[in-house]
Amino acid sequence: MTLLELSDVSVHYGRIKAVSGLSITVDEGEIVTLIGANGAGKSTTMRAISGIRPVSAGSIRFDGEDITRLRGDLRVVRGISQSPEGRGIFPGMTVLENLDMGAYARKDRKDLKTDFDRVFELFPRLAERRTQVGGTMSGGEQQMLAIGRALMAKPRLLLLDEPSMGLAPQFIQQIFRIITEINRQGTTVLLVEQNAQQALSRAHRAYVLETGQITKTGTGRELLADSSIKEAYLGVG
Ligand code: ATP
Repeated sequence: MTLLELSDVSVHYGRIKAVSGLSITVDEGEIVTLIGANGAGKSTTMRAISGIRPVSAGSIRFDGEDITRLRGDLRVVRGISQSPEGRGIFPGMTVLENLDMGAYARKDRKDLKTDFDRVFELFPRLAERRTQVGGTMSGGEQQMLAIGRALMAKPRLLLLDEPSMGLAPQFIQQIFRIITEINRQGTTVLLVEQNAQQALSRAHRAYVLETGQITKTGTGRELLADSSIKEAYLGVG
């Protein structure tokens, strides 16, 4: 079943067209990744899906509903949750408080305990640090907290914008393993990454974004084997 569908979406910043006529789909249960160079429009696409940035043309459907003009907070209620680029946790709040903020839009607060447990199982480090103030944690820990907070909304679609950014190699492996586990537990994932090697190895399908447009699509495995992708994004000629 198609969970998310962007049709001919364009997004502007003033007169700058950052995304131009972009069409992608994400099926329920998939990990789909968007790869592309700096400035290709990956974050802008994520912002359009979460409702942070309005689209100037085209449409966005989620679970069969047209959400193109729906407010961002109502998209969270529908089941779309974003872990933003640059982490964006609340630095003055503890781990527990940050996680609780992720659940603000939920009506079923009685099930919260289960979801705290799930997040702590995925990220034991957060369990150890539950009373620590977010802003004092390491970059990798803050990244875990941002993903954990997005999971507390119990999303059907988790949007991850550069989860590996700025992380030490051992954290990068760990974050990607956890993303696979989150997906295995039933959450659909749309992943934006500069680490194309890891993203393509983990994703069922992938889209390549260049200057605001999709230039290539295929399974993760197909794109990993594609010589032009290897040259441009995997650092092998
Ligand atoms: P990166 O990996 O470097 O974050 P990206 O693929 O996520 O890149 P975007 O951040 O979506 O790219 O940016 C796409 C284009 O839109 C770029 O040319 C960028 O300069 C421009 N842009 C992004 N945000 C703004 C903004 N707030 N105001 C003006 N232009 C912007």
